[in-house]
Amino acid sequence: MTDTDTDILADDRLHRFARQLILPGFEESHQLRLAATHMLVIGAGGLGAPVIQYLIAAGIGTLTIIDDDVVDRSNLNRQVIHPENHIDMAKVDSAAIAGKAMDHQVNIHPHRSRFDASNAAALCEGVDVIIDASDNPETRLAANDAAHQHHLPLVFGGAVRLEGQVASFRSGIDEAAPCYRCLFPEAAGRDLAPGCSEAGILGPITGAVGSIMALEAIKQALMPDQPLGSALDGKLLLFDGRYMSTSVITVPKSPDCPCCGAS
Ligand SMILES: [Zn+2]
Repeated sequence: MTDTDTDILADDRLHRFARQLILPGFEESHQLRLAATHMLVIGAGGLGAPVIQYLIAAGIGTLTIIDDDVVDRSNLNRQVIHPENHIDMAKVDSAAIAGKAMDHQVNIHPHRSRFDASNAAALCEGVDVIIDASDNPETRLAANDAAHQHHLPLVFGGAVRLEGQVASFRSGIDEAAPCYRCLFPEAAGRDLAPGCSEAGILGPITGAVGSIMALEAIKQALMPDQPLGSALDGKLLLFDGRYMSTSVITVPKSPDCPCCGAS
C-alpha cells in the first residue's frame, strides 16, 4: 500500500461504493484502504475471473495478474471475464481489457508468464496480498513459498468437478500459523489431483469459490487494524456443490514443514 493516496473519496467513488459503505463496520477508511491495496492474482482462468471481477468491483486499486495461457473456446463455460471475441488472446490481456472496462481507475499490470521461483520476488514487490487462482500444484507451491518468504497473506482456492476449496495462510506474518505446504508438502501427481481438463468443471462452482476467495482477499487487505469479521486463516473451507454442503477444517502447523517448519 502507498501513503500517497488522498484521505477522502471523490463523490463519484462514494456513489460507486455506496452500498458497501453503508455496511456496519465498513467505513470510508476501509474503502480508502482497498483503493491503496495491490493484489497479485496468479491465474486468470476459472477462479481468477471472478476473483478479478469482484476485486475490481469492490474497489481494489491495483492488480498484478499473471497467466501464461490464451483464451480457448472451452474456457468460456466458467472463465466469465473473457468474452467470445477474446478467443486466442492472452488471458492477462483479455482480463486487463475487461477489468479496465469495469473501472477505468483500476491499475492492472498483466504478465504473460507462469509464476515460479524465478519471477516471484519481482512480482511480489509492493504487493499486499497474494491470491493463488492457479490450476496446478507446482504453481500453488511456488505461490505459497513466495507468500511465506515475502511475509504476505496467501489466499488459496481450488475447484474441480462440483467441488471447491478455499483457505488463507499467514505463515509469513505469524510464526504460529500454518502454510499451504503444511497441508500439501509436495506437488501431487495429476492422478491424485486431476485438473478441470481431465475431470470437468461446472462454471458456477468456480464462480462460488472465486467469490469466496475475493472476500477472503478483501479481509486480508483490511487486517490487522480494520478487520471485517474473521477470515479463513489456517482453515480450509470445503464446498461440495453437488449436495450443497460445506465444512471447515483447521490446518495444523507441521513442525516438519519444508516451508514454515522449525527445521
Ligand atoms: Zn508450512
